Amino acid sequence: MFVVLMGPPGAGKGTQAEKLCKEFGLIHVATGDIFRNAVKEGTEMGKKAKAYMDKGELVPDEIVLGIVKERLSKADCANGVVLDGFPRTIQQAEALDQVLEDLKMKINMVIILDINEDEVIDRLTGRRVCSNCGATYHIKYNPPKVRNICDYCSGELQQRSDDTIETVKDRIKIYNNLIPPLIDYYEQKGLFQKANGSNLIDCVFAEIDSFLQKKVYIE
Ligand code: ADP
Ligand code: AMP
Repeated sequence: MFVVLMGPPGAGKGTQAEKLCKEFGLIHVATGDIFRNAVKEGTEMGKKAKAYMDKGELVPDEIVLGIVKERLSKADCANGVVLDGFPRTIQQAEALDQVLEDLKMKINMVIILDINEDEVIDRLTGRRVCSNCGATYHIKYNPPKVRNICDYCSGELQQRSDDTIETVKDRIKIYNNLIPPLIDYYEQKGLFQKANGSNLIDCVFAEIDSFLQKKVYIE
């Protein structure tokens, strides 16, 4: 199964992707996570990407397309993938089609997490991420058992450097400009589904799960 999760920053893509991976044994491929790891490791690619990420801008395609192709070509992705944060533009969607054709893979469903701007700002400013394992929390909606400590690995929770109110607003603006043609693109291919991203985490997952169960049943 190959699922693409779309939605504005903070819609809950990473949160739902983790649940999908547990439920269906899929691999979570998130371009944002790949960049953040590269920044942490101090690679050349990480240094280039950081300049864009800090401003809330998109990293140029010449960097993004290569890392997606490289990641999707790895053997573990043959078990199925949840793609999160990619594609963000029509050019990226077309490039993804080409990569998948080369790898003899295909997208089964594109799910957008629909949510309004105020909720997204509230979610992003309260988001905390484990500095060790990357698990995501929210100070109000999904807090760790012990304040600032990861439930899974006891790592320290941190705020993402691009989760400041100014950068968040810029990232939402970019998303709003780019998303309409992408929705058309996947609607025309009959792959598009919309889930209510404002619901509680488990309710969002139940809706996504129902889409996928129906799809598996039909196919
Ligand atoms: P994205 O990957 O789309 O940027 P995340 O999955 O990181 O979004 O979620 C953003 C923040 O919102 C996190 O702090 C997460 O814990 C919280 N969150 C995710 N889904 C929900 C939800 N359905 N209700 C409330 N908070 C949520
Ligand atoms: P995310 O983790 O999806 O919120 O992404 C964090 C940042 O990584 C974005 O603001 C961009 O700077 C960069 N990024 C992630 N995915 C992409 C992509 N598909 N295209 C361009 N830039 C990306």
